[in-house]
Amino acid sequence: MNLVPRLNAPARRAAEGFVDPEVAETPPARRRPRFARVGLAAGAVASIAVASLMISNAAANSSAVTPLESTAVASPGTVAVFESRGSDVSRTAEDRTAVDQAATVRGQSIQAENDAVAQAAQLSVLQSRSSSMTEASDAITAQAKKLANKKNFLIPTAGALGSPFGMRLHPILHYWRMHDGDDIGGACGQPIYATQDGVVIKTESGYNGGSGNNVEIEHGQIGSVDVRSDYFHMNKFIVQVGQTVRRGDLIGYVGDTGLSTACHLHFQVRENTVPVDPIGNGYIKSPNADAAPTTEG
Ligand SMILES: [Zn+2]
Repeated sequence: MNLVPRLNAPARRAAEGFVDPEVAETPPARRRPRFARVGLAAGAVASIAVASLMISNAAANSSAVTPLESTAVASPGTVAVFESRGSDVSRTAEDRTAVDQAATVRGQSIQAENDAVAQAAQLSVLQSRSSSMTEASDAITAQAKKLANKKNFLIPTAGALGSPFGMRLHPILHYWRMHDGDDIGGACGQPIYATQDGVVIKTESGYNGGSGNNVEIEHGQIGSVDVRSDYFHMNKFIVQVGQTVRRGDLIGYVGDTGLSTACHLHFQVRENTVPVDPIGNGYIKSPNADAAPTTEG
Protein backbone atom coordinates (compact mmCIF):
# COMPACT_ATOMS: atom_id res chain seq x y z
CA MET A 1 0.00 0.00 0.00
CA ASN A 2 1.22 3.33 -0.84
CA LEU A 3 1.63 5.64 2.19
CA VAL A 4 2.55 8.68 0.27
CA PRO A 5 -0.97 10.09 -0.40
CA ARG A 6 -1.62 10.18 3.31
CA LEU A 7 1.22 12.66 3.87
CA ASN A 8 0.59 16.40 3.66
CA ALA A 9 1.98 18.23 0.71
CA PRO A 10 5.30 19.44 2.14
CA ALA A 11 6.00 16.09 3.68
CA ARG A 12 5.16 14.36 0.47
CA ARG A 13 7.38 16.70 -1.44
CA ALA A 14 10.20 16.10 1.01
CA ALA A 15 9.64 12.39 0.72
CA GLU A 16 9.73 12.62 -3.06
CA GLY A 17 13.06 14.49 -2.95
CA PHE A 18 11.50 17.79 -3.69
CA VAL A 19 13.58 20.68 -2.68
CA ASP A 20 11.81 23.87 -1.68
CA PRO A 21 13.60 26.66 -3.53
CA GLU A 22 13.13 29.12 -0.61
CA VAL A 23 14.47 26.63 1.82
CA ALA A 24 17.23 25.62 -0.58
CA GLU A 25 18.33 29.22 -1.01
CA THR A 26 18.78 29.68 2.72
CA PRO A 27 22.42 29.15 3.63
CA PRO A 28 22.76 26.11 5.83
CA ALA A 29 25.11 28.02 8.16
CA ARG A 30 22.44 30.53 9.12
CA ARG A 31 20.14 27.90 10.48
CA ARG A 32 20.87 26.82 14.02
CA PRO A 33 20.86 23.09 14.23
CA ARG A 34 18.06 21.66 16.28
CA PHE A 35 20.35 20.00 18.80
CA ALA A 36 22.05 23.33 19.30
CA ARG A 37 18.78 25.04 20.18
CA VAL A 38 17.89 22.26 22.61
CA GLY A 39 21.36 22.39 24.15
CA LEU A 40 21.10 26.14 24.62
CA ALA A 41 17.81 25.78 26.36
CA ALA A 42 19.14 23.02 28.55
CA GLY A 43 22.18 25.10 29.39
CA ALA A 44 20.01 28.01 30.42
CA VAL A 45 17.98 25.80 32.70
CA ALA A 46 21.16 24.37 34.16
CA SER A 47 22.54 27.85 34.70
CA ILE A 48 19.42 28.84 36.56
CA ALA A 49 19.63 25.69 38.64
CA VAL A 50 23.28 26.27 39.46
CA ALA A 51 22.61 29.87 40.30
CA SER A 52 19.80 28.82 42.57
CA LEU A 53 22.05 26.28 44.19
CA MET A 54 24.74 28.92 44.67
CA ILE A 55 22.27 31.33 46.21
CA SER A 56 21.01 28.60 48.44
CA ASN A 57 24.54 27.69 49.45
CA ALA A 58 25.42 31.31 50.00
CA ALA A 59 22.44 31.75 52.23
CA ALA A 60 23.36 28.64 54.16
CA ASN A 61 26.95 29.73 54.46
CA SER A 62 26.11 33.23 55.60
CA SER A 63 23.91 31.94 58.41
CA ALA A 64 26.39 29.30 59.42
CA VAL A 65 29.74 31.02 59.34
CA THR A 66 30.15 34.38 61.08
CA PRO A 67 27.91 35.97 63.72
CA LEU A 68 26.72 39.47 62.90
CA GLU A 69 27.95 40.95 66.16
CA SER A 70 31.60 40.13 65.60
CA THR A 71 31.70 41.95 62.31
CA ALA A 72 29.61 44.88 63.56
CA VAL A 73 32.37 46.60 65.59
CA ALA A 74 34.72 46.59 62.65
CA SER A 75 32.13 47.80 60.23
CA PRO A 76 31.28 51.46 60.69
CA GLY A 77 27.93 52.53 59.48
CA THR A 78 26.17 49.33 60.29
CA VAL A 79 23.13 49.04 62.50
CA ALA A 80 25.26 47.31 65.07
CA VAL A 81 27.50 50.35 65.40
CA PHE A 82 24.45 52.48 65.76
CA GLU A 83 23.28 50.22 68.50
CA SER A 84 26.73 50.34 70.02
CA ARG A 85 26.62 54.14 69.97
CA GLY A 86 23.17 53.94 71.49
CA SER A 87 24.62 51.80 74.20
CA ASP A 88 27.38 54.37 74.73
CA VAL A 89 24.80 57.13 74.98
CA SER A 90 22.76 55.12 77.42
CA ARG A 91 25.93 54.35 79.38
CA THR A 92 26.73 58.06 79.48
CA ALA A 93 23.21 58.70 80.68
CA GLU A 94 23.72 56.06 83.33
CA ASP A 95 26.98 57.71 84.31
CA ARG A 96 25.22 61.06 84.57
CA THR A 97 22.49 59.48 86.62
CA ALA A 98 25.16 58.02 88.89
CA VAL A 99 26.82 61.44 89.16
CA ASP A 100 23.48 63.04 89.89
CA GLN A 101 22.76 60.43 92.53
CA ALA A 102 26.22 60.95 94.05
CA ALA A 103 25.62 64.71 94.03
CA THR A 104 22.25 64.18 95.67
CA VAL A 105 23.79 61.93 98.32
CA ARG A 106 26.60 64.46 98.86
CA GLY A 107 24.02 67.23 99.06
CA GLN A 108 22.05 65.25 101.61
CA SER A 109 25.24 64.59 103.52
CA ILE A 110 26.11 68.31 103.53
CA GLN A 111 22.55 69.13 104.54
CA ALA A 112 22.81 66.60 107.36
CA GLU A 113 26.10 68.16 108.44
CA ASN A 114 24.55 71.62 108.29
CA ASP A 115 21.61 70.36 110.30
CA ALA A 116 23.97 68.82 112.83
CA VAL A 117 25.93 72.07 113.08
CA ALA A 118 22.71 74.05 113.42
CA GLN A 119 21.47 71.66 116.08
CA ALA A 120 24.79 71.88 117.89
CA ALA A 121 24.64 75.67 117.73
CA GLN A 122 21.04 75.62 118.93
CA LEU A 123 21.97 73.19 121.68
CA SER A 124 24.85 75.47 122.63
CA VAL A 125 22.49 78.43 122.75
CA LEU A 126 20.00 76.42 124.79
CA GLN A 127 22.74 75.24 127.13
CA SER A 128 23.93 78.81 127.42
CA ARG A 129 20.38 79.94 128.13
CA SER A 130 19.93 77.09 130.56
CA SER A 131 23.20 78.03 132.22
CA SER A 132 22.17 81.65 132.35
CA MET A 133 18.73 80.68 133.67
CA THR A 134 20.41 78.49 136.26
CA GLU A 135 22.59 81.43 137.23
CA ALA A 136 19.52 83.65 137.40
CA SER A 137 17.74 81.01 139.46
CA ASP A 138 20.74 80.77 141.77
CA ALA A 139 20.83 84.55 142.04
CA ILE A 140 17.11 84.60 142.87
CA THR A 141 17.59 81.82 145.41
CA ALA A 142 20.53 83.69 146.92
CA GLN A 143 18.50 86.90 146.96
CA ALA A 144 15.53 85.09 148.49
CA LYS A 145 17.83 83.58 151.07
CA LYS A 146 19.33 86.98 151.69
CA LEU A 147 15.86 88.49 151.99
CA ALA A 148 14.81 85.64 154.27
CA ASN A 149 17.89 86.34 156.33
CA LYS A 150 17.08 90.01 156.17
CA LYS A 151 13.64 89.26 157.52
CA ASN A 152 15.28 87.40 160.36
CA PHE A 153 15.26 90.42 162.66
CA LEU A 154 17.17 90.66 165.85
CA ILE A 155 15.11 91.04 169.00
CA PRO A 156 16.18 94.63 169.70
CA THR A 157 16.45 94.43 173.46
CA ALA A 158 16.47 91.92 176.27
CA GLY A 159 13.29 91.04 178.10
CA ALA A 160 10.05 89.15 177.90
CA LEU A 161 7.17 89.91 175.59
CA GLY A 162 4.60 92.12 177.27
CA SER A 163 1.59 93.32 175.34
CA PRO A 164 1.57 91.71 171.93
CA PHE A 165 0.44 93.20 168.64
CA GLY A 166 -3.36 93.47 168.39
CA MET A 167 -6.48 94.95 169.98
CA ARG A 168 -6.19 95.51 173.66
CA LEU A 169 -7.74 97.47 176.49
CA HIS A 170 -5.23 100.27 176.93
CA PRO A 171 -3.76 100.21 180.45
CA ILE A 172 -3.74 103.97 180.76
CA LEU A 173 -6.51 105.12 178.46
CA HIS A 174 -8.77 102.26 179.62
CA TYR A 175 -10.40 101.65 176.31
CA TRP A 176 -9.94 99.15 173.58
CA ARG A 177 -7.66 100.21 170.82
CA MET A 178 -5.16 98.76 168.44
CA HIS A 179 -1.75 98.03 169.90
CA ASP A 180 0.42 98.29 166.83
CA GLY A 181 3.60 96.66 168.11
CA ASP A 182 5.17 94.33 170.60
CA ASP A 183 6.14 95.51 174.07
CA ILE A 184 9.38 94.03 175.24
CA GLY A 185 10.17 94.48 178.89
CA GLY A 186 13.53 95.67 179.94
CA ALA A 187 15.35 97.66 182.63
CA CYS A 188 15.58 101.38 182.21
CA GLY A 189 18.67 102.33 180.30
CA GLN A 190 19.45 98.89 178.83
CA PRO A 191 20.71 98.94 175.27
CA ILE A 192 18.49 98.83 172.20
CA TYR A 193 19.98 97.47 168.98
CA ALA A 194 19.09 97.89 165.33
CA THR A 195 16.96 94.91 164.41
CA GLN A 196 18.34 94.76 160.85
CA ASP A 197 20.60 96.62 158.42
CA GLY A 198 19.16 99.93 157.35
CA VAL A 199 19.24 103.67 157.34
CA VAL A 200 17.84 105.90 160.07
CA ILE A 201 15.05 107.98 158.53
CA LYS A 202 13.51 109.58 161.63
CA THR A 203 14.48 110.54 165.13
CA GLU A 204 12.05 112.38 167.45
CA SER A 205 12.41 113.70 170.93
CA GLY A 206 9.52 114.51 173.25
CA TYR A 207 6.02 113.16 173.72
CA ASN A 208 5.20 112.72 170.02
CA GLY A 209 1.59 111.56 170.46
CA GLY A 210 2.64 109.08 173.15
CA SER A 211 5.59 107.50 171.30
CA GLY A 212 8.13 109.45 173.34
CA ASN A 213 11.68 109.55 172.12
CA ASN A 214 11.73 107.32 169.08
CA VAL A 215 13.76 106.18 166.09
CA GLU A 216 12.66 104.80 162.72
CA ILE A 217 14.93 102.74 160.48
CA GLU A 218 14.35 102.03 156.77
CA HIS A 219 15.31 98.48 155.77
CA GLY A 220 14.37 98.79 152.13
CA GLN A 221 12.52 96.19 150.08
CA ILE A 222 12.17 92.80 151.72
CA GLY A 223 10.28 90.52 149.40
CA SER A 224 7.87 92.83 147.67
CA VAL A 225 7.32 95.31 150.49
CA ASP A 226 9.10 98.23 151.99
CA VAL A 227 9.96 97.46 155.61
CA ARG A 228 10.75 99.80 158.44
CA SER A 229 11.20 99.35 162.19
CA ASP A 230 10.27 101.75 165.03
CA TYR A 231 11.52 102.04 168.61
CA PHE A 232 9.34 103.98 171.09
CA HIS A 233 9.65 105.30 174.66
CA MET A 234 13.44 105.51 174.49
CA ASN A 235 15.37 107.06 177.31
CA LYS A 236 17.57 108.42 174.54
CA PHE A 237 18.83 107.56 171.06
CA ILE A 238 22.39 107.87 169.77
CA VAL A 239 21.76 107.88 165.99
CA GLN A 240 20.77 110.57 163.55
CA VAL A 241 18.74 110.72 160.37
CA GLY A 242 20.65 109.43 157.37
CA GLN A 243 22.93 107.23 159.37
CA THR A 244 23.52 103.73 158.09
CA VAL A 245 23.25 101.05 160.69
CA ARG A 246 24.03 97.37 160.76
CA ARG A 247 22.01 94.66 162.41
CA GLY A 248 22.94 94.70 166.10
CA ASP A 249 24.31 98.25 166.18
CA LEU A 250 23.49 100.18 169.34
CA ILE A 251 20.94 102.90 168.58
CA GLY A 252 19.72 103.97 172.04
CA TYR A 253 18.44 102.92 175.49
CA VAL A 254 15.23 101.70 177.04
CA GLY A 255 13.15 104.44 178.65
CA ASP A 256 9.69 105.47 179.75
CA THR A 257 9.05 108.51 177.57
CA GLY A 258 5.69 109.33 175.91
CA LEU A 259 2.51 107.51 176.92
CA SER A 260 4.07 104.83 179.12
CA THR A 261 3.66 103.50 182.62
CA ALA A 262 7.16 102.07 183.04
CA CYS A 263 10.46 101.42 181.18
CA HIS A 264 9.96 99.11 178.22
CA LEU A 265 10.48 99.07 174.46
CA HIS A 266 7.56 99.36 172.15
CA PHE A 267 8.88 97.66 168.98
CA GLN A 268 7.06 98.17 165.74
CA VAL A 269 7.46 96.86 162.17
CA ARG A 270 5.83 98.58 159.18
CA GLU A 271 5.20 97.15 155.78
CA ASN A 272 4.66 99.96 153.24
CA THR A 273 4.28 102.27 156.30
CA VAL A 274 1.44 100.17 157.79
CA PRO A 275 2.21 98.55 161.18
CA VAL A 276 2.13 94.73 161.15
CA ASP A 277 2.63 92.03 163.75
CA PRO A 278 6.44 91.54 164.03
CA ILE A 279 6.02 88.02 165.41
CA GLY A 280 3.03 86.98 163.31
CA ASN A 281 4.77 88.17 160.15
CA GLY A 282 7.95 86.34 160.89
CA TYR A 283 10.29 89.25 161.59
CA ILE A 284 11.13 88.16 165.12
CA LYS A 285 10.51 85.09 167.20
CA SER A 286 8.61 85.62 170.38
CA PRO A 287 10.82 86.59 173.30
CA ASN A 288 10.45 84.42 176.35
CA ALA A 289 6.64 84.39 176.52
CA ASP A 290 6.79 82.62 179.87
CA ALA A 291 8.33 85.65 181.47
CA ALA A 292 6.05 87.95 183.36
CA PRO A 293 4.61 90.78 181.29
CA THR A 294 6.42 94.03 181.71
CA THR A 295 5.04 97.48 182.00
CA GLU A 296 2.74 98.35 179.20
CA GLY A 297 2.41 101.49 177.13
ZN1 LIG B 1 3.47 99.22 173.13
